[in-house]
Amino acid sequence: MNGGDAYAQIGPETSAGTRLFSLSGHVVRPGNYEIVMGMTWREFIYDIGGGIRNDRDLKCWIPGGASAPWFVPAEHLDLPVTIDDTGKHGSMLGSGAVVVMDDTTNVVAAAHRVVKFFAHESCGQCTPCREGCDWLERILWRILNGAGRPSDIGLLLDVCDNISPGLRWPPAQTTICPLGPSAVSPIRSILTHFRDEVEAMIPPEQVMTTREGATVG
Ligand code: SF4
Repeated sequence: MNGGDAYAQIGPETSAGTRLFSLSGHVVRPGNYEIVMGMTWREFIYDIGGGIRNDRDLKCWIPGGASAPWFVPAEHLDLPVTIDDTGKHGSMLGSGAVVVMDDTTNVVAAAHRVVKFFAHESCGQCTPCREGCDWLERILWRILNGAGRPSDIGLLLDVCDNISPGLRWPPAQTTICPLGPSAVSPIRSILTHFRDEVEAMIPPEQVMTTREGATVG
C-alpha cells in the first residue's frame, strides 16, 4: 500500500501506472496481462507474449480493440505502449484488446471479419453506418471470393469517406456514435499497409464483347 504518488512514479509521466491488456491472436502466450505502461510493443509481444507462434514473422497487430487502426512492425514495433505515442501514430489503446497477426494472415479476410462484426452491430439509426457498413462488408466479401472489381478499392475508400470524412485520425464522423468510423479502421489499415496484397486479390477487368461489337466492362 504505497499510495497514489508511488503509483504515479511507475511508467512514463503521461501514461503512468499499469494497465490490463488482452493479448490474443498468433502469439505463443495469449492471455490477460497487466503491464507497466511505456514498455515497447516489441517487449510486450515478444517478451511477454512469447513471440509469434510456429516461428512465423509478425505481420501486423491491432493495438487497442477492433476500432483501432492496425500497427505494422516496420513503423511501430519499437514505439512505447502509451496513450500518447499510440495516438500520435494514428491509433489508440482503446479497449486494450491486442490482436496479433502473423505473416500467413490474409488481411482482407481479417478486415472482413472485423467489418462484418460492426455491420451486424449497427443499430441502424444513421444511414452512413447502416448502409455503409453493410456495403463495406459485401465489397470485402467479393474481393475475398475472387469476384472483386478493379473499381472496388476506390469504392471502399468512397464509402469509408462518407462514414468518416477525410479518413483521418482521430476520425471525423457523419454518424451519431463512433461505431460507423470503427468499421473504417480495418479498411484504412489494409489499404495503407497492404494495398498491394488487396490489389493482387482483384482479378483484372473482364471485358466482354457483345455480338454487336460493343464492349462491356
Ligand atoms: S453510428 Fe452508432 S448510432 Fe449510428 S447507426 Fe451506427 S451504431 Fe447506430
